[in-house]
Amino acid sequence: MSLIQHLINGELVNDSGRSADVYNPSTGQVIHQVPLASRETIQQAIDSAKAAFPAWRNTPAAKRAQVMFRFKQLLEQNEARISQLISEEHGKTLEDAAGELKRGIENVEYACSAPEILKGEYSRNVGPNIDAWSDFQPLGVVAGITPFNFPAMVPLWMYPLAIVCGNCFILKPSERDPSSTLLIAQLLQEAGLPKGVLSVVHGDKGAVDALIEAPEVKALSFVGSTPIAEYIYSEATKRGKRVQALGGAKNHAVLMPDADLDNAVSALMGAAYGSCGERCMAISVAVCVGDQVADALIAKLVPQVKALKIGAGTSCGLDMGPLVTGQARDKVSGYIDDGVAAGAELVVDGRGLSVAGHEEGFFLGGSLFDRVTPEMRIYKEEIFGPVLCVVRVNSLEAAMQLINDHEYGNGTCIFTRDGEAARLFCDEIEVGMVGVNVPLPVPVAYHSFGGWKRSLFGDLHAYGPDGVRFYTRRKAITQRWPQRASHEASQFAFPSLS
Ligand code: NAD
Repeated sequence: MSLIQHLINGELVNDSGRSADVYNPSTGQVIHQVPLASRETIQQAIDSAKAAFPAWRNTPAAKRAQVMFRFKQLLEQNEARISQLISEEHGKTLEDAAGELKRGIENVEYACSAPEILKGEYSRNVGPNIDAWSDFQPLGVVAGITPFNFPAMVPLWMYPLAIVCGNCFILKPSERDPSSTLLIAQLLQEAGLPKGVLSVVHGDKGAVDALIEAPEVKALSFVGSTPIAEYIYSEATKRGKRVQALGGAKNHAVLMPDADLDNAVSALMGAAYGSCGERCMAISVAVCVGDQVADALIAKLVPQVKALKIGAGTSCGLDMGPLVTGQARDKVSGYIDDGVAAGAELVVDGRGLSVAGHEEGFFLGGSLFDRVTPEMRIYKEEIFGPVLCVVRVNSLEAAMQLINDHEYGNGTCIFTRDGEAARLFCDEIEVGMVGVNVPLPVPVAYHSFGGWKRSLFGDLHAYGPDGVRFYTRRKAITQRWPQRASHEASQFAFPSLS
């Protein structure tokens, strides 16, 4: 068992204080210890970021981007090693881990366009001999706090962009699966990033509170569950920080009577059970318009859910690995108990699954509930496991009302062949990311990612154009060079063109 280290000022450092266990969820064994940073350790990272900032912000954007070009190459060269680490600590399959890394690399590619995205805006001759421009300047030291479910991709949503914008970044990854996140940060160092521009500090609430309270930290990006998102948003904005805090989700897929059912079923299987349902964009509710659709859907889903190939994430050719911890597995199991007690019809029961050779692993089979109703806890709350709930309604309007009434508004999709229905859905649904016959509408890196309602606290979405706005502040400059021969009298009225 090894001790994972922090990365501060370009060096791997130990922490003499508290630590936590990191599991291999496929075996149920503790494989590493991760340090939980003290306030002193966080301050060390802040000090190194502060010291690195003046030179980094003055490094030409094109040179900052060159580091990202090399970083992208290193990420691609190390894909297998990174995927292995993700799978070992998170439990997701190797193919799924490689997929999240590829989506993360897209954000590095976007960051490579720094000189273009930071060009600013210019207006010549806004008044006599007066030119005006808007500049987008970095904030200084900024921090990110990330969840366990995408240890590679979610940090890559944040720091490549923050860094090419000229900021110095402190990342506090999830303490449950930190190894791939740390390796990726080391690759950025290897790509030529100056010391102190990126630090990785592991930790729990104590580390997060130290980042919230530090006056040097100007902005916080958070991705994780809603209660913590709300806590970080309120505590950090109270201290005058800029915050984007992305929270939990309950994502609905609407199945219209005219949908191509076979395609919808394939899409739903991947979106509901891929990564064991531990995705903020996972589909956890299928809303069927009409009993006929629901009956046909259940008939097609049941054999496929029962046939899910489940095993150690690092084995090849699987559909699903284990849940991240024993606690997560028990929590999901508890939700299934609760759904049964509330009267939902459990048509496939994934509880109590044992995988041969991995009896101590944190496994659950796929579960499927029919006749779920809106007042049930399994409908209202985010389960974050391999559980799909089918809700039956009579019309598209009723389906949309259901979704709009839910407290979360992260992602949703509609399966239909009817353009009019799809257009109405896109226009009227109160959700931040919408798919039409696309089950996981995760925006590409040059659009931005974010939910509505209690799935996001803050104004700007993550990455893409909103990410650039989040990690920069606008400076508007108005410049005049009077002609030598002229002299203008003082003007006491408010300056205007006429
Ligand atoms: P989590 O909220 O438990 O942890 C997220 C981060 O917050 C971790 O770094 C953790 O160390 C830290 N943290 C935990 N408790 C804290 C506390 N009391 N005070 C301060 N910091 C604390 O989330 P998780 O279990 O790691 O991830 C799963 C959750 O993340 C799900 O709810 C999922 O929907 C959400 N998520 C959302 C998105 C999105 O884009 N909206 C993306 C991925 C995951």
